[in-house]
Amino acid sequence: MTTERTFSIIKPDAVAAKQTGAIIQMILDAGLTVKAMKMIRLTRPQAEGFYAVHKERPFFKDLVEYMISGPVVVSCLEGDNAIIRYRELMGATDPAKAAEGTIRKKFGKSIEANACHGSDGPDTAKVEMSYFFSSLEIVGE
Ligand code: UDP
Repeated sequence: MTTERTFSIIKPDAVAAKQTGAIIQMILDAGLTVKAMKMIRLTRPQAEGFYAVHKERPFFKDLVEYMISGPVVVSCLEGDNAIIRYRELMGATDPAKAAEGTIRKKFGKSIEANACHGSDGPDTAKVEMSYFFSSLEIVGE
């Protein structure tokens, strides 16, 4: 077992639908620990920068519009194998294909408005956490 940290976003659709509390509870019930958390409204440049890896994809423009459409809750989560465990808890990108018991199955509205984001590997997790949090904001740093 490796203690890891991962980066999470509760996306605008879930915050607007008052699902933030239920999603945080699912994260805690899964045994992950919250090390930092805040609500922010992404600016266009922040959203474009965060999803820069997708900038050539057909869904990029809509994705940026969606991500800036309302507040989001960003957090750093910690636990044994936190990255893969949080990806499993989120479920497939498309909520229609997500397994029962996952956040996206329960709260996702579409392949775009799919309730949450989680880092896909250790390198991305580091970059994404430092994109939104200084080390002073993370408990235990
Ligand atoms: N997305 C979209 N249309 C697609 C695929 C992805 O709008 O056809 C959005 C969706 O919000 C997704 C995000 O782009 O969460 C990033 O896509 P990625 O393939 O990295 O999926 P994830 O890692 O979030 O499951």
